[in-house]
Amino acid sequence: MLKIAYHPIYNHPLPEGHRFPMIKYELLPKQLLHEGTCTQENFFEPEIPNDKYIVAVHDPEYFYDLLNIKISTREARKIGFPLNEVLVERERIIADGTMKACEFAIQNGVAMNIAGGTHHAYTGHGEAFCMLNDQAIGARYLQAQNLAKKILIIDLDVHQGNGTTEIFQNDDSVFTFSMHGEGNYPFKKEQSDLDIALKKGTGDEEYLNILKRTLPQLIDTVQPDFIFYLSGVDVIDSDKLGTLSLTLNGAKKRDEIVLNTCYKLRIPVQCSMGGGYSPDIKTIVEAHANTYRLAQDIFF
Ligand SMILES: [Zn+2]
Repeated sequence: MLKIAYHPIYNHPLPEGHRFPMIKYELLPKQLLHEGTCTQENFFEPEIPNDKYIVAVHDPEYFYDLLNIKISTREARKIGFPLNEVLVERERIIADGTMKACEFAIQNGVAMNIAGGTHHAYTGHGEAFCMLNDQAIGARYLQAQNLAKKILIIDLDVHQGNGTTEIFQNDDSVFTFSMHGEGNYPFKKEQSDLDIALKKGTGDEEYLNILKRTLPQLIDTVQPDFIFYLSGVDVIDSDKLGTLSLTLNGAKKRDEIVLNTCYKLRIPVQCSMGGGYSPDIKTIVEAHANTYRLAQDIFF
């Protein structure tokens, strides 16, 4: 069965006036239930994880500063919103959702987190709405439990996974692959194990051809026993932040390529949602829902 991490805290509102769309975290599970892609049984509720899993990735000093809401105004500005206890709790719960989804992925081939994909969180600081890096925490968790040795992170959010890349820059056991908009944030990019920077306006055909060419070779070279997939939908044309021009259907094809490859090669895959900033919330929810529909079709 497709297991999906979801907790009501995912939709906790941001401080007044903030435009980051949290409502998708409420609408996406509703849509999946409404259309029958999932039933309540598919969902599980993550909890606050043991701190040891978080400090296996993040500097303890940074993490405890977050917990105690002690970070400086400058650091908070980098994250993008004023910090409070609930928002930090939310990130810890999201990280737990990803860790548990990793275990479900090993059992069932694939598992998802309705939130997560906080790939701009570095070892020692947060950036761009990201405080704790859920998939990095998931990767270290799997290795600590001896559930995976060699891990591949496929980050197809339109923004480069700079935090993830920094976390694993000296770690040969985790390969970071990021395909992103060249002109998108972060403007100073980190060096992933493999970066593909795409020109403004790159559309379905070119994007999908590059992915189809790259992915099989990459998996053949890396030989991962676990894959993380960051399926951000800010690659689509209508996105307010993304510089790429995929159609809704192109984004679905992208997910299909990744999920099909994992399925055929029997490599467990955990998906976190990442970004999506189209002006119409329906487009965002539809694009994310496609990832779940495909997971159901391909794996179950
Ligand atoms: Zn993004």
